[in-house]
Amino acid sequence: LSSKSEVLIEKENKYGAHNYHPLPVVLEKGEGVYVWDVDGKKYYDFLSAYSAVNQGHCHPKIVQAMVDQAQKLTLTSRAFYNDKLGNYEEYITNYFGFDKVLPMNTGAEAVETALKICRKWAYEVKGIPENQAQVIVCENNFHGRTTTIISFSNDESARKNFGPFTDGFIKIEYDNLEALEKALESSKNIAGFLVEPIQGEAGVYVPSEGYLAKAKALCEKHNVLFIADEVQTGIARTGKLLAVHHENVQPDILILGKAISGGVYPVSAVLANNEIMNVIKPGQHGSTFGGNPVAAAVAIAALEVIKDEKLAENAERLGAILRKGLNEIAERNHLIKLVRGKGLLNAIVINSDEESDLAWEICLKFRDNGLLAKPTHGNKIRFAPPLVMTEAQIQECLEIIEKSLNEFR
Ligand code: PMP
Repeated sequence: LSSKSEVLIEKENKYGAHNYHPLPVVLEKGEGVYVWDVDGKKYYDFLSAYSAVNQGHCHPKIVQAMVDQAQKLTLTSRAFYNDKLGNYEEYITNYFGFDKVLPMNTGAEAVETALKICRKWAYEVKGIPENQAQVIVCENNFHGRTTTIISFSNDESARKNFGPFTDGFIKIEYDNLEALEKALESSKNIAGFLVEPIQGEAGVYVPSEGYLAKAKALCEKHNVLFIADEVQTGIARTGKLLAVHHENVQPDILILGKAISGGVYPVSAVLANNEIMNVIKPGQHGSTFGGNPVAAAVAIAALEVIKDEKLAENAERLGAILRKGLNEIAERNHLIKLVRGKGLLNAIVINSDEESDLAWEICLKFRDNGLLAKPTHGNKIRFAPPLVMTEAQIQECLEIIEKSLNEFR
């Protein structure tokens, strides 16, 4: 590490709360699939800010939309109307096929919003007795960091000493339809089933084919809302606009964040049809920044880029090439135990136990060789590059990955 990087890292360690453990690299510039550190060294970004920068870093069209809007009007709060919000709401609801959207800023906020909408729907439409609603969630989920969301996490480090927690959640095994059916039948007070179409943070767990479609059908049978958290999997990441589209599922409530703005600005959203969304009345939920004109302008531009540049198709095609290449490397180098993923949301599982530092050491080696990735849950390394990659770039990344792994022999 250069002394320039070291000084900046020390400053962050001194003045910033230690709520993250970043890989030691200090970035100052990004363009497309590349980022540069403070010494001018160039890297492939193989994380995309946890799948937020799907359109590539500093996409000129998205940045321009932000700059233009920032020079005109940035924030009115929802005390007044702004001239961008209605157009954005029309655009995003048509884009995803819903009646209505509730705009928020971050993924966790959108998850909280979806849970509140689901509960209110349960009391006012389904007729569940007040304060009795239950929401089914999955083991090893990740939906964010708020107190309610960590109430149903089973990541001990995310929960320990943050209680007391919010009630009303039933946890079942992911990718297990029998467990879902049993939970749905266990009580008359089930309001919703909250699920990640692929569990990203847990280490990119892709459920069995048919799981999401059958889970949706079970929810319908029991008049329970199917709530898809597509904060990480959505916006073309897995090779379709939404990961649920692989199984032709339309969720009752859709949660989006991250790449809805291409990583340019914090934007999240909850989408649902009228019967569900209309349970929210003025004064019952909101956010000062949610639906601000910059967010609206940025999100329209970012969603246009996804379609104009056919990024879902690119993710599908390049994802297959990436997994094929990784599987070939795994045959030659036994540090890779397993390769999994869909589209450009992938992970390799390293041949070591969860507590070992090996995955971290490998990521340091990737960094030295010009590729940035980060371990998730010990021995898994997620590979989620921007979707604007080319095939030649993927091949170069595969070479960097193999070279780095070979340096461990
Ligand atoms: N849901 C899922 C599926 C996520 O992957 C994440 C972030 N990794 C979140 C919610 C939370 O988003 P945010 O960090 O913007 O609050």
